[in-house]
Amino acid sequence: MYTDLTDKVVIITGAATGIGKAIAKRFASEGSKVVINYFKEEENPEGLVKEIEEAGGTASIIQGDVSKEEDVQGFVRFAHDTYGRLDIYVNNAGIENEVPSENLPIEDWQRVINTNLTGTFLGCREAAKYMLEHGIKGSIINVSSVHEIIPWPHFAHYAASKGGVKLLMESLALEFAPDGIRVNNIAPGAIDTPINAEKFSDPEKKKGVEKLIPLGYIGEPEQVASCAVFLASDQASYVTGTTLIADGGMTKYPGFQAGKG
Ligand code: NAD
Repeated sequence: MYTDLTDKVVIITGAATGIGKAIAKRFASEGSKVVINYFKEEENPEGLVKEIEEAGGTASIIQGDVSKEEDVQGFVRFAHDTYGRLDIYVNNAGIENEVPSENLPIEDWQRVINTNLTGTFLGCREAAKYMLEHGIKGSIINVSSVHEIIPWPHFAHYAASKGGVKLLMESLALEFAPDGIRVNNIAPGAIDTPINAEKFSDPEKKKGVEKLIPLGYIGEPEQVASCAVFLASDQASYVTGTTLIADGGMTKYPGFQAGKG
């Protein structure tokens, strides 16, 4: 338990599913007031709100597209109107698709960059603006990826977006440090969520991914959520401008395990 998170107000984007959903549940269990953004109507997280409330937590939902400026401004306004403040903003929404780069359509490039990079920029900007205006020493957390470090053929647009989020985070951490606003990334490795459902339903593909993970297994969304509450809490009060990697060791050159290389 991070008792300082009680009554803190947190917005989490793309939080109807996967990692964002686990982050929402974890903040709610810490006593935070949670604003759950969702994107697609079929993902409407009313059930998640009910689950959180039945467990004694507080949550509300707002539909919107992180790549649209007016929607992101609406998320912050909604948090203020509903709970009176904003302390923590988690840029979690993200998308990917596999395309050999010589055939990568401009539409796919723009969709991925607009969601993953521009969406994160808008969330950071609006959260920081609010925190500065209200004198709140808040925390901004971006869910990037191990692909802010590891190149990824056929997913070049995704890797470019997450690499962009790395330097965006580091630049903003430096910019807002004098105001006490901390900005950090979490870089998950392979996590069992809907984004990977198709890949992990194929046992061969799943085994191939597991081989890249020194700890030997695919991570759970809750293992990423525990990084988010840590980074938002006072236990991380001296942590800014850094990426917390939650990848079972994937970024540590598993090809060199057992003396190989
Ligand atoms: P997911 O598909 O379950 O979650 C992504 C969420 O983002 C969905 O709820 C989706 O509706 C939402 N979203 C998509 N476009 C949006 C938009 N324009 N506006 C608002 N919401 C939008 O997958 P996930 O694994 O939970 O992904 C969460 C984040 O974690 C993503 O940023 C992803 O890149 C990152 N990530 C995931 C993994 C993994 O292995 N699962 C690894 C590294 C990074």
